[in-house]
Amino acid sequence: MTDIKSMTSAELRDLMVSLGEKPFRAKQLYEWMHQHLAVSYEEMSNLPKSLKEKLSDRPVTALEIMDIQISKIDGTRKYLFRLSDGNMIESVLMKYRHGNSVCISSQAGCRMGCRFCASTIGGLARNLLPSEMLDQIYRIQADTGERVSNVVVMGSGEPLDNYDNLLRFIHLLTEEGGIHISQRNLTVSTCGIVPRMYELAEEKLQMTLAVSLHAPNDEKRRRLMPIANKYSMEELLEACRYYFEKTGRRITFEYSLVSGVNDSREDALELAGRLRGLNCHVNLIPVNPVRERSFVRSGRDAVENFKINLEKCGINGTIRREMGSDIDGACGQLRKRYMEKTESEK
Ligand code: SAH
Repeated sequence: MTDIKSMTSAELRDLMVSLGEKPFRAKQLYEWMHQHLAVSYEEMSNLPKSLKEKLSDRPVTALEIMDIQISKIDGTRKYLFRLSDGNMIESVLMKYRHGNSVCISSQAGCRMGCRFCASTIGGLARNLLPSEMLDQIYRIQADTGERVSNVVVMGSGEPLDNYDNLLRFIHLLTEEGGIHISQRNLTVSTCGIVPRMYELAEEKLQMTLAVSLHAPNDEKRRRLMPIANKYSMEELLEACRYYFEKTGRRITFEYSLVSGVNDSREDALELAGRLRGLNCHVNLIPVNPVRERSFVRSGRDAVENFKINLEKCGINGTIRREMGSDIDGACGQLRKRYMEKTESEK
């Protein structure tokens, strides 16, 4: 890894030594980037000029804020960031009583093709570097002046499709000496890339793994999520069981309710049957309508009933409170609108 803000402290130490510098410079650099959230070497007042010169061909990753939308209802803030190569990504800050939570993107675009999702419409542009995942959090913390306490990797992109960078990001995020967010305050959401889930289990991280299920059986799941053609629900649930055994962490399932597609009583009962015996929790989210898609969100009653039916079978569910419903809500919508605008201006 040559990107300086994606380097671990040990790698930075090696770099300092190879540049003929004292190893303690690594700690100073690390703290400037990951604690003081510096965006350039100029700010790093205790580093010698000669070192800054040696590092001048290694720019410090710094995302540029292009737009912020603020919800008048609940203060949710949606950020549009520009990466150094001109790609755009988005992140969301949600304010809860228990602290500030940031939802970050793991890729620019996405190649998973989920039918109801706006992030995947233009395909995958590229993977994000660990530093580009981190800087979404850093820039938001610097912009608001308030500490970010929770991070969810639930924005655009499939984190397990950018696996090595994700792991490095997790280490930099949760290690001492940096922003130092507890693994327990981190959630990573996947559409279910089964082999990667097994690999991740071996890391024995204390974070929460969220799995996007959205259907009670393979047939319905395949209609919503192309990944279901690759891995069956049985294989996916087996990987979830394994993940729990290895880490002791309860799995969260994401279930977006689409009217007339996956929200009936039968769907709830079938889902409960499939999940029986698994230590899990189901998050129910009425699907967010996306302009390009014809899916209709389930009504309040359908959502309530779905939860009640699950609970009758002993499966816990939570209806997710909607945040920022007055700003471009669903993943990828702000980025997409921006890209359309610049396209039409060309
Ligand atoms: N690729 C990962 C994480 C990104 S999406 C994953 O699939 O889990 C985060 C969650 O939002 C996923 O559960 C995804 O299926 C869901 N989602 C995407 N678009 C949505 C929409 N329009 N309405 C409701 N949920 C949506």
